[in-house]
Amino acid sequence: MPLQTVEPRIRGFICTNAHPDGCRENLRSQVRVTASLGAAGDGLNVLVVGASTGYGLAARIAAAFGFGAKTVGVFFERPSGDGRTASAGYYNSVAFHEAASQNGLYASSLNGDAFSDDLKRQTLGIVKRDLGPVDLLIYSLASPRRTHPTTGVVHTSVLKPVGASERIKSLDLNSGEVTFVEMPPATQSEIDDTVAVMGGEDFGLWTRALLDEGLLAQGARAVAFSYTGPELTQGIYRRGTIGRAKEHLEATTRDLNDQLRRSVGGQALVSVNKAVVTQASAAIPAVPLYLSMLYPVMRDRAAHEDPIEQMNRLLRDHVGPGRDATLDDDGRIRLDDREMRVDIQEEIARRWVEVTNENLGRLADVDGYRSEFRRLFGFEVDGVDYGAATEVDRYLP
Ligand code: NAD
Repeated sequence: MPLQTVEPRIRGFICTNAHPDGCRENLRSQVRVTASLGAAGDGLNVLVVGASTGYGLAARIAAAFGFGAKTVGVFFERPSGDGRTASAGYYNSVAFHEAASQNGLYASSLNGDAFSDDLKRQTLGIVKRDLGPVDLLIYSLASPRRTHPTTGVVHTSVLKPVGASERIKSLDLNSGEVTFVEMPPATQSEIDDTVAVMGGEDFGLWTRALLDEGLLAQGARAVAFSYTGPELTQGIYRRGTIGRAKEHLEATTRDLNDQLRRSVGGQALVSVNKAVVTQASAAIPAVPLYLSMLYPVMRDRAAHEDPIEQMNRLLRDHVGPGRDATLDDDGRIRLDDREMRVDIQEEIARRWVEVTNENLGRLADVDGYRSEFRRLFGFEVDGVDYGAATEVDRYLP
């Protein structure tokens, strides 16, 4: 295919293309952040489900380049074709393989539907053949829908309040204006569907499949990600449909924890991560406005972290070999500790009440949010020549 000059194609919270060189540069900069912390261990087997973007990709990098881990990554991404670029997660993963191979690190990736029995079987086959028992399972899926492997029913998740409608302050990403979104409450079937997609059932299926095949090492840890957030996003997040799914994920993880403790002396854990700009979080009403305030407030206090800092902390302080996870009263790791600091949340709560279109530029960094969002797709990344045509057909090994 001829070389292409790639311009971003963005509508609202969706970007339909990606820049391969920008994605590679993003990947490399996360590798550099990890390498700058020094080697933290040697010889770990890690399976990451949802490994191509956001938290899952950062966890894969933290494991490989911090602990010399052999990694198997599972994700659902679009390769290039018909004149279209690949998705960002696809290019990220191509770049991950390049970096891993340059560093002599084993890596294998499976691109397909992680909810299906077939992909689980294929993944377990590769783990068995190439790795042996895994020390760490990271479960970082974020998906709008799931085809249930037993019933064949397609469940679609929704982002809605539960019980009563909510009027939510938000940012219109097309106009860049503060708006209010009126959201009706979810029906019971919408709540059930969201729990079916983003709840804990699939995490349980992955963990038990590994356990049943003898593919969890002694002391293995299985980690899934959750979010709580401040009062001002509770209506749409924690008390909404996605919050119901996270409660289900957390309850499932407690059951899995008992099982892993008894069977392999291991642990199943939930890590409550910080709010960050990712493809998944851009779709949640209120969250882009919240992030446009959170990033500058945390940066001003030298408390800001991107996914890679969060995942390095997760592995180095909590779930890496020989580490003991520090847990809250509900048994969860709290990587959102800095986000939830009283001084940070008081400042955001003040700005949140005050913010209007007139003072938006002073109280929130919307341009910064937009740049951060574009960077997810490889645009506005330092060191990339966007005027130059580039090869968009790049493939996973
Ligand atoms: P993301 O959109 O960046 O990544 C989602 C990953 O899931 C990608 O690798 C994608 O390819 C993969 N995926 C989606 N559907 C798939 C399928 N059917 N089969 C295989 N792979 C599939 O998401 P993220 O924001 O990093 O979220 C990951 C987890 O972290 C979620 O549980 C989310 O709730 C949680 N979390 C996110 C935030 C945040 O602010 N972004 C904060 C706290 C917790």
